[in-house]
Amino acid sequence: MIDTNVNYVDSAGKDVPVQPLNRMLYLPVWDVYVPASYKGAPPACHFCRQVGHKRAVCPSLAKRQCFKCHKLGHTARFCRVEEKSFEEAVNGYEAAQARATSGSSTGRKAPKQQNPSDELQGLIKEQLALQTANANANANSPSNAKVND
Ligand SMILES: [Zn+2]
Ligand SMILES: [Zn+2]
Repeated sequence: MIDTNVNYVDSAGKDVPVQPLNRMLYLPVWDVYVPASYKGAPPACHFCRQVGHKRAVCPSLAKRQCFKCHKLGHTARFCRVEEKSFEEAVNGYEAAQARATSGSSTGRKAPKQQNPSDELQGLIKEQLALQTANANANANSPSNAKVND
């Protein structure tokens, strides 16, 4: 994503304030902006967030210099020169570790108990009964049947 707190500096070194959002919809639940699209909507640029052109032909992006490889036309985020910073590498490693740990410890299927207690057996029966009831409810409720007509 674009860091909207940082002004865009164009090729002449001029500081250009970030453009106000155009056709972007704010979703407070997820704290994200999404492009509001509709049939016949003009193209919206995901780079400069202006309407009228797409990112691929964005004049702002064409002038944008990548601070990794110093070429024009893309940002460091989209740079093909893979050059991870130390921090990124550490974050990636930690994320991988977290995934590995959570993946091995959470068995979704209930493990087979050799000597299940009565309490546990009761819980398992309860679960099975619930699952069966749900399955039956789904099977027995035709979605478009008129019930109280
Ligand atoms: Zn643009
Ligand atoms: Zn680059």
